[in-house]
Amino acid sequence: MLIARTLSELRDARAGLGLELGLVPTMGALHEGHLALVSAARVAGRVAASIFVNPLQFGPTEDLARYPRDEAGDLAKLEASGCDLVWLPHVSEMYPPDGASTITVGGPATLWEGALRPGHFTGVATVVAKLFGQVRPRAAYFGEKDWQQIQVISRMVADLLLPVEIVPVPTVREQDGLALSSRNRFLSAENRAAAPALYSALRRAAQAIAESAPVVATLATANAEISAAGMQPEYLALVDAQSLEPIEALTRTARLITAARAGSVRLLDNVAV
Ligand code: AMP
Repeated sequence: MLIARTLSELRDARAGLGLELGLVPTMGALHEGHLALVSAARVAGRVAASIFVNPLQFGPTEDLARYPRDEAGDLAKLEASGCDLVWLPHVSEMYPPDGASTITVGGPATLWEGALRPGHFTGVATVVAKLFGQVRPRAAYFGEKDWQQIQVISRMVADLLLPVEIVPVPTVREQDGLALSSRNRFLSAENRAAAPALYSALRRAAQAIAESAPVVATLATANAEISAAGMQPEYLALVDAQSLEPIEALTRTARLITAARAGSVRLLDNVAV
């Protein structure tokens, strides 16, 4: 497994990897969800993973400083997963001091996470575009756990005519249904015990809506279930799966999306309907 820490090391490493390269962008603290992306990319060809805790996507009051970091553990996991190249850029190389360009996506980036975390998706879109330019993958793999993020990146790729295929990978969960996340380690024992209620509420609501239950009442019930489990729902919505616009009736491409606080940890989840 090649490891590149500077752009010139990346250029040398990239040169030997051919056209069929899949990129898995991550912020590290890797778990089985990230490794599922590596496995999906491996089926198609060579795999590059990036590990970069991107300061631009964190708000001023968010957890950049305490975001978990475990470079040695991450490299061991990537090596064992058959990753070919790991790109570990420095902040100064991603964001040179004279840099003056960012990418702001409209449409799906303006709602939900975009509304609650101003600037977040500009940070995501900007870093992903830079990674595409640096690594030049044929395809890039993203987790459905961050459903809105996939739609924002797909919008950017379509709008800017970037020659990269975006491949969504299903959410990897704990046995009790909690979606794996690098931030789950910050859940207290009590909040960890409550957290699976988010996915069960989503699944029950998706099932009910699929069976023609009224949408507004079903969402209210799911919200009440999440609150009763001790979490604070931030949003829970039936949306068009691509545009993320809220919808009141079931369409072919609907998605049920939610964010809730469990103590100090924000949990995101979503299901197909
Ligand atoms: P992160 O390191 O949190 O920025 O995530 C890097 C990538 O891994 C993103 O595409 C995430 O959507 C994806 N990811 C995170 N958690 C999971 C999960 N539980 N299942 C599948 N993909 C995931």
